[in-house]
Amino acid sequence: MKSVSALKAVESTLMTINGRTPAYVELTERFGPVFISSARLRDELVAEGVASLEIDPVRLAAGVPVLVGSDFSQWTDLLSSSVKRLLPELLEVLELEDDACEALRVFFDDSDTLLALVQARTEGDWKHFENTSVQLETVSATTLLYISEIVFSPVLCAIAETLGERLESHSWEHGHCPVCGSSPSISQLSPKEITDLDQLVGGGGKKYLHCSLCGHDWRYKRNACPSCGNDDSESREVFYADDTRFERVEACHKCGTYCLNVDLRECEPLPHLDAIQMGLIHLDIYAQKKKLTPLVSTLWNSLD
Ligand SMILES: [Zn+2]
Ligand SMILES: [Zn+2]
Repeated sequence: MKSVSALKAVESTLMTINGRTPAYVELTERFGPVFISSARLRDELVAEGVASLEIDPVRLAAGVPVLVGSDFSQWTDLLSSSVKRLLPELLEVLELEDDACEALRVFFDDSDTLLALVQARTEGDWKHFENTSVQLETVSATTLLYISEIVFSPVLCAIAETLGERLESHSWEHGHCPVCGSSPSISQLSPKEITDLDQLVGGGGKKYLHCSLCGHDWRYKRNACPSCGNDDSESREVFYADDTRFERVEACHKCGTYCLNVDLRECEPLPHLDAIQMGLIHLDIYAQKKKLTPLVSTLWNSLD
């Protein structure tokens, strides 16, 4: 599923959202182009091939994601070119003040600061983002985080693509990504499979969490909360709209978080799991009215 064109998936997902919910058109027209540019770059990097990493089974068994603590300098050029491609468009879309745009351009132009930032992001070092925001003066830590994630994502997606198959032979039962350590923004029930032998369509429905940063999907217990592991059905709840039961909010009242879920057995064509979230804001609003917090805050689920 992962090796299909991200660009095609984003384009068809945007069309699906617009066709279904005209109220979201304003949002998809504003942010859609960023998704398209990011997906195009990801596809190019996957096609060209990027440097990969060895998987250390001992570290992985101890719950340490592959990219945490690794040397990112081998991908400096890719990260810099992603900045060149995506940052100008992103600054325009975010409608930041001129001085903030200038500060960000200068900041992201420096490869050392870029490497420190990607390292901080994969290590969950939010202090680094706060300190950098203070230095930049005109940009909030949250904005800096969103921008960083968007410019790092195509490169990290291409790296994750090189690790995906090899990771399948290792067990990983955590709610954070085995590649980059991020939390999932959405989960999926896997699509029906066509077996070569008899053309029978069936199966699927296995639960995978989808990484909000590197796009890796990893298998997870179907009835457990990705945040705290709670699998008690009394304190977990599922919400959906009656006409779209295949799109849900999975909530955990033990830790107060929620995660979106899409049943891909009901989706044709398969959506792009990041872009589709723009079309699920009604679920975010519903969950947040219930005082639940998203596992990952995105531009959409934190819009007022
Ligand atoms: Zn990841
Ligand atoms: Zn929980």
